[in-house]
Amino acid sequence: MSELQASCLCGGVHLSFPDAFLYMGNCHCSECRKFTGADYSSVGGIEAEKVTVTAGQDHLRYYDKSAETVLAFCGHCGSSLFSHKVNRGIFNIRLGILDSTPQHTPDFHIHTASKAPWHTPNEALKQFEHGPD
Ligand SMILES: [Zn+2]
Ligand SMILES: [Zn+2]
Repeated sequence: MSELQASCLCGGVHLSFPDAFLYMGNCHCSECRKFTGADYSSVGGIEAEKVTVTAGQDHLRYYDKSAETVLAFCGHCGSSLFSHKVNRGIFNIRLGILDSTPQHTPDFHIHTASKAPWHTPNEALKQFEHGPD
């Protein structure tokens, strides 16, 4: 199985993990929109223990969004890197930081009930008004 590489804007933080996302989707919740600064956040979920920080461990910063979600970002350039679902042991990797191409593509939208009013989600994908949690 090939390894995917990912990095932040300044190149300080590098991550590596197998091309084995459990799911890939687009989250339209207002918190993801705030954190990423984008209309929505595309993420791929993978078991936390499969992700290796290959460079820049000292740049990693964390924001405790809730008891079960910790958001990781680069303390130097501010790039949003992943959200850690602590109770499930999952990292939701922000797909925008990928430097290589995964074998699959996002296939659903979640939290479309709180999507940006100016944004029209790709209607080819399944839509859920709320999230899985
Ligand atoms: Zn950075
Ligand atoms: Zn979200």
